[in-house]
Amino acid sequence: MTTATHAATYDDRNPATGEVIAQIPESSHDDVDRAVRAARAAFDGGKWSSMAASRRAKIINKMAALIAERANELMLTEVRDNGKAVATAKGEMGAIVDCFEFYAGAATKNYGETMPPPLPTYLANTVREPVGVVGAIIPWNFPLLLASWKVAPALAAGCTVVLKPAPSTPLTAIELGKIALEAGVPEGVLNVVTGSGREVGQWLVEHPLVDKIAFTGSTATGKLVAKTAAETLKRVTLELGGKSPSIVFDDANLDAAVAAAIYGIYYNAGQACEARSRVLVQKNVYDRFVADFTERAKNVRVGNPEDPQTQVGAITIPEQFEKIRSYCEIGKSEGARLLLGGERAQVEGANANGMFWSVTAYEADASARIAREEIFGPVVTFVPFADEAEAIAIANASEYGLSASVWSENIGRANRVARAIRSGTVAINTPYAVFPGVPFGGYKQSGYGRELGIETMRLYSETKSVLTYIGEKPLNPFGV
Ligand code: NAP
Ligand code: MG
Repeated sequence: MTTATHAATYDDRNPATGEVIAQIPESSHDDVDRAVRAARAAFDGGKWSSMAASRRAKIINKMAALIAERANELMLTEVRDNGKAVATAKGEMGAIVDCFEFYAGAATKNYGETMPPPLPTYLANTVREPVGVVGAIIPWNFPLLLASWKVAPALAAGCTVVLKPAPSTPLTAIELGKIALEAGVPEGVLNVVTGSGREVGQWLVEHPLVDKIAFTGSTATGKLVAKTAAETLKRVTLELGGKSPSIVFDDANLDAAVAAAIYGIYYNAGQACEARSRVLVQKNVYDRFVADFTERAKNVRVGNPEDPQTQVGAITIPEQFEKIRSYCEIGKSEGARLLLGGERAQVEGANANGMFWSVTAYEADASARIAREEIFGPVVTFVPFADEAEAIAIANASEYGLSASVWSENIGRANRVARAIRSGTVAINTPYAVFPGVPFGGYKQSGYGRELGIETMRLYSETKSVLTYIGEKPLNPFGV
C-alpha cells in the first residue's frame, strides 16, 4: 500500500461531539493518479484478475472473517466517525460480513454461456471477464456498508478498485484497505483515496485509466458523474437519492404498519436513501394511523450514539443538519401541519456541537416540497389517499423510484400495487427489504444498475464472445 505524499490534511470530526478524531490526507492529483496506476498495474499484471476464481473466493471469505473478528472495533469507529447509533452500526457489521460472503460465493459463479451454434461448424460461447479498474465513490451515511456493496462484487469479478469514501467518514474505508491486504488481496488491488468529491472524486471519474465508476450519492452529483464519465466512455452505475413511499391501506395490520413506518423513517436518523419519507394512508384509517404513529414515535430514543439504548444518533455533517433545519422552515412556510419534533433534539450530556435532530412528522399536501423532495433526515410527511388508484398515482408522482412499501392484508391488492409502482424495490408488509442476494437500485432518477444481486457481477464484468471453427475443411472466404 502506498500512502499519500501530499502534506495537506483536514480534520475528521465526531458529529455527536464536534471533537476532531483524525487527521485525514487531502489527496493530491498526483496521489489519485498513483492510486489509479497502482490499480491499473495490478489489473494488467493479472495476479488478481487471472487468479482461479475459487482462490479469489477464499480470499474474499477471509476478508469477511476478518471483518467479523473486528466487528466491535469497526462498529465503534463507524459510530464516532458518522454519529450513528451503535445498535445501527452493529446491524451493519453483520450485513457487511454477509455481503462479502455472498460475493465470495458469486466469484465462482460468474458463468458465461454457450450459444446454439450460429453455423453447424461453429462453437460459440461467452466468458465474463472483469471490467478492469473500478472507481468506487460512496457517501457518508453507511460508509463501510456501501463500500462493501461495491468492493465485494468488484473483487469477486476480478476487478481492481480505487475506493473514495466521503470526506466526513473515511475511517472504515481505510481499515477495509488494510483488511484486504491482511486477507491476501495482492498489493494494488484495493486502493483508498481520501479527500473531497469536487477534486479527488472528479479526478477519479476523469482518469483515462479507470474503466468503470460505481457511484452512490445524490442525484445531482450522479448526473455530473455520468456526464464526466461519458468523456472516456466509462461504464457507470449510479445508486442515487429517493423519496420512497409507504402505502398503508385500510385493511393493513395497522399496528405493524405504524411500527414499520416509524423505523422506516427514523432508522439511521433518516439518512438512508431508501428511507420511507412519505407515508400515504387511506383516508378512513388516516386519523387513527397518524395519532398512533405520533404517540409511539415519542418513544424513539434519540441520544448519545455510543449508548446501546440509543435508536437515533447524530446527523453526520453540518450541511445535512442545516438542510433538515431549512426543510422544516419550508414545511412551516408551506403551511404543513407539524405533528412532532421540527427542532434540534435536546440530548442529555451532549455539548453544543452535537448535531441531533428530533424525530419529526408533518401532514402535508402531496404537492408540498417537503412531501416531494429528499430531505435525508428524520422527517416524515403523511399524505391521505382515497383509493388504490390515487395511492399509486401519488406514489409514482416523483422523480425518484428507489423503494416503496405496501401494507395490506389483501395479498392480491398488495401485489397489484407493487407491480404498478415504478421503483427498484417494493416491500410488502415488512420493514426489512435490503439483503445480499436481492438486487437493490433505482428506477427513474434514483439511478441505474443494481447492487447486492447476483446480476451485479455482470456490472463488474465485460462479456467476451469466443467463436471457434470446428469444421474439417479450412475456410478461405476470398478463395485466394
Ligand atoms: P453526494 O454529495 O452526491 O456525495 C457522494 C460522494 O460523491 C461523496 O464521496 C462526495 O464527496 C463525492 N462527490 C461529490 N462531487 C463529486 C464529483 N463531482 N465527482 C465525483 N465524486 C463527487 O451525496 P451525499 O450527500 O454525500 O449522500 C447522500 C445522498 O446519497 C442522498 O441523496 C442519498 O439518497 C444517496 N444515497 C443513495 C443510496 C443508494 O443506494 N441509492 C445509498 C445511500 C445514499 P464530497 O462529500 O466531498 O462531496
Ligand atoms: Mg467524521
